[in-house]
Amino acid sequence: MKILEDRIRKDGVVKAGNVLKVDSFLNHQMDIQLYDEMGKEWKRLFEGVPVTKILTIEASGIGMACIAALHFHVPVVFAKKSQSVNIDGDVYSTKIESFTHKRVYDVIVSKKYLGPEDHILIIDDFLANGKALEGLIRIIEESGAVLEGIGIAIEKGFQAGGKLIREKGIRLESLAIIDSMDEKNGIVFR
Ligand code: 5GP
Repeated sequence: MKILEDRIRKDGVVKAGNVLKVDSFLNHQMDIQLYDEMGKEWKRLFEGVPVTKILTIEASGIGMACIAALHFHVPVVFAKKSQSVNIDGDVYSTKIESFTHKRVYDVIVSKKYLGPEDHILIIDDFLANGKALEGLIRIIEESGAVLEGIGIAIEKGFQAGGKLIREKGIRLESLAIIDSMDEKNGIVFR
């Protein structure tokens, strides 16, 4: 998606450890006009797909999932990072290893908001090694819902996640795919 690529080129900052900072328009300050264009694009790409709910993960996916949801006319559920263990059995839970924080945390989704009747589109900001998506997919599988597809803002194509997800036969639409990013060549898109 050209406007997203242009914006990443203009305002993205490449950090050590294969981390791209997009805090000025996506992850901290949020450009809602851009989010709206992204939502429109996902809607175009997933046209005709019977989505009943958008699922994302706390925290940085929530904003873009909400704006996308305006185009799909469906609710958003976000997987919550949780400190407490599931004792009542009223939540789906899984462990996810964080790419940016290098630690494992528990995420939960209430059984009230996800079930076999749902057709899910996952939306998230970044795809790196795919750990966040794998966690969300485990939760969807446990719930009996149907995973219809995944929309990602920025896929780092030089990391393993994209291949892993596509090999599962899951429809994955990334709005910008970065093939390499370094000081010498800058950010190169696919
Ligand atoms: P994965 O689970 O695919 O390894 O990493 C995806 C998650 O890590 C995303 O939800 C995102 O929050 C974070 N992440 C991964 N790579 C980057 C990056 O380059 N920049 C930023 N800002 N977040 C990232």
